[in-house]
Formats: sequence, structure tokens, C-alpha cells
Amino acid sequence: MSRPQVTRALAELGAEPVTHLINTHWHFDHADGNDWLHSAGAKIIAQENTSKHLAGIQRVEDWDYNFLPSPAGAIPSEVFAREHSLKLNGASIGLKYYGPAHTDGDISVTFAEANVLHVGDTYWNGIYPFIDYSTGGSIDGMIAACNASLAAATSDSIIIPGHGKPVSNKTELQEFRDMLAAIRDNVAKLKKQGRTRDETVAAKPTAAFDAKWGQFVIDPGFFTRLVYEGV
Ligand SMILES: [Zn+2]
Repeated sequence: MSRPQVTRALAELGAEPVTHLINTHWHFDHADGNDWLHSAGAKIIAQENTSKHLAGIQRVEDWDYNFLPSPAGAIPSEVFAREHSLKLNGASIGLKYYGPAHTDGDISVTFAEANVLHVGDTYWNGIYPFIDYSTGGSIDGMIAACNASLAAATSDSIIIPGHGKPVSNKTELQEFRDMLAAIRDNVAKLKKQGRTRDETVAAKPTAAFDAKWGQFVIDPGFFTRLVYEGV
């Protein structure tokens, strides 16, 4: 569905064809262009769990939706378990598996010379994130992924999130990570006291963060339910 915008952006870069496409995870808003870009000649690369999810039916409980298998051309043809590296147009590109985080297939993509770190949906810049428990995501995995990204970044790294303001940095990512950890602790405390999910939402454990982070599709109640599921 983003084909017209992507086609326009590619044309502005030059006439050369796209030869490689990297999927940071399987979600449709990140992999929906696979089929047409593959038809245009791109090789698709992903972590092996991402490829598995794209090839089968996926039920995402929190969206109450079943995703159908992708067409053959949309399935990544080059998969890896932990790490993969590429050298393209003089750029060193490093792909690294986070372990289960937002899904069970999230990877970071590092462009070494440019000092750019793409962290996919393990980071939503300025907004509460979705966490896909149906395919292996969890709040603790999200926090662990942020810790890994922070360790890999330098103070002048350009960090590209999966959603939110498209260009970020280590300071903002640190703030996102600290928000996740604080809400995780608040929700865990309530759950330990025996509060049900609805009682925990009613106690507003995200209140201190809502003005800044609660202004997008994952609202405070929804985010609280996602955290509750994982603590
Ligand atoms: Zn996603």
C-alpha cells in the first residue's frame, strides 16, 4: 500500500534497481512491499522466524485478526539466525537478531560508515509501542532490545525507530527504555497485589507518562493491558 510513496522516493535517489530488501520483522506495515519489490528484482533478507511467520497463517490476538500466508515472492529468500553482514555500494551493513522483543524475529540494521542504527519496531519514538505476544513479543524482551540498541549506539548515532518521529538518537531511546521499565514495574506491582487486568488499567499505572507517550494508536489502557500480559 506504500508502493507509490516508496517508488517516488526511490526515483529521487536514482535510476538503479533495488537489489536488496531487509525485513526488520514480519508485520504487514513493514513487509507488505515484499512482493512487488521482489518482482522488481530485490532479494529479501530476514531473521528465520520472520520468514516462517510470513509463510504461514498468523493470528494476532490483540488485533483479533488472522493474517494469511504471503505469496511465494514475498517470502525472504535469505534467512539467518543471529547475525548477517553485507557490503553494498561501499557500505558495511550489519544485521543482528535481538531475540524475542516486539515479535520473535526482530533485528537491528547497522550502517557502520554512516553511524545509522535502524531498530525496527523495538522502538516507537515518542509513543507507546505495540507488543505482539502472539508471535513471541514481550515487555521484558522490548526492554532487553532497547538495552542492546543503547549499548550498540554512540552519542552521535542516528537511530531510526519503527514508528513515531522518523529520526532519533540515543538520548530519546534511553527515555523510551526508561518509560518501558517504569511502567513495567508499576504494572507488575499491581498484578502481584492480585489486581485483575481491568483493575490494573483502572489504577492508571501509566498516568505519569500519558501526556507524552499516550497520543497515538496504542492508548494508555491498551498499553497497560500489553504490559500486564507479560509480567
Ligand atoms: Zn511491528
